[in-house]
Amino acid sequence: MKEIDYFFPKTLEEALQILNENKGSMRVIAGGTDLVVRLKQGQVKEDRLLDISRIDALKGIEDRGEKIYIGATTTHTEILEHPLIKTSVPILHDAIKSIASLQIRNIATIGGNVANASPAGDSIPALFVLNGFVFTKSIEEERKIPIEEFFLGPSKTSLKENEILVGIEITKMQDDEVGFFRKVGQRKGTAISVVNGAVRLKKDSKPNRFSKAFVSLGAVAPTVVRAKIVENALESEEIDSLDKIMYISGLVFREVSPISDVRGSLEYRRDVSINIIYEGLADLFLNGFRRS
Ligand SMILES: Cc1cc2nc3c(=O)[nH]c(=O)nc-3n(C[C@H](O)[C@H](O)[C@H](O)COP(=O)(O)OP(=O)(O)OC[C@H]3O[C@@H](n4cnc5c(N)ncnc54)[C@H](O)[C@@H]3O)c2cc1C
Repeated sequence: MKEIDYFFPKTLEEALQILNENKGSMRVIAGGTDLVVRLKQGQVKEDRLLDISRIDALKGIEDRGEKIYIGATTTHTEILEHPLIKTSVPILHDAIKSIASLQIRNIATIGGNVANASPAGDSIPALFVLNGFVFTKSIEEERKIPIEEFFLGPSKTSLKENEILVGIEITKMQDDEVGFFRKVGQRKGTAISVVNGAVRLKKDSKPNRFSKAFVSLGAVAPTVVRAKIVENALESEEIDSLDKIMYISGLVFREVSPISDVRGSLEYRRDVSINIIYEGLADLFLNGFRRS
């Protein structure tokens, strides 16, 4: 591994100043679970690291009425242990619970999961369906970016070289909303997703009908995607049988453009993405679309 200069700012202002002065040659590090692997593989061009893990302003979870704000360096374990997450955004809870092992979750952060911009990042489909926004800061400006506009490609985001991702905002689920997160990895436990997906449905006054549907899938395209054709079908059809759910899940076929890699072939990924949506919807249907 090459020689690295390490910076440990205590405040966000100090961090933004240092990052601005070292634009282009400095990389942010939070939990380091992803970055250290890349450093060891020689995949990081920068030779300066800005460790943001000791900055209090970047940590913690805030109840903001209909919204929840999560500071970028809040760890996955801290998110799982917060009572608001399990009750108000169970989709995100299930997504984070599926990430890696307890040891990794104790140090890895949600900001790192998002900024890493892996198409297989497990928090991302959940943030998509929960109307997520990313907050960034530099010494010049603050930005609030819809999560769907944040990702430009694998490992590519709209973050500028002097910006830090400071937090994420999501919308709480209402009592008339149901949903799920599902993931298929290569093995149980700490596996990176072969495909993952999340769904949120807002119930209509008529049974088995939904006034709003949000569907997202990961690892089936260069970035996590919304499955709009499936969403439209869920909003226009009565979801009254497993056959109907099978038909709607099959529409996923038209929305994904996966690649083949070591974790799965194109065809396998396409089939798994259909199955993920089918099984999740079928569980909800068989449970009477009740919030469990
Ligand atoms: C064994 C193992 C298993 C894993 N399993 C999973 C899994 O099941 N699911 C999954 O989604 N991921 C998994 N990961 C990947 C990784 O643990 C997660 O993506 C984690 O959330 C990254 O967070 P971090 O704080 O460690 O990020 P870091 O490694 O510190 O950073 C990751 C990237 O984001 C940038 N970055 C971090 N924070 C910020 C910020 N606030 N502002 C700007 N840029 C920032 C860094 O510069 C770097 O490019 C796994 C990793 C390992 C090693």
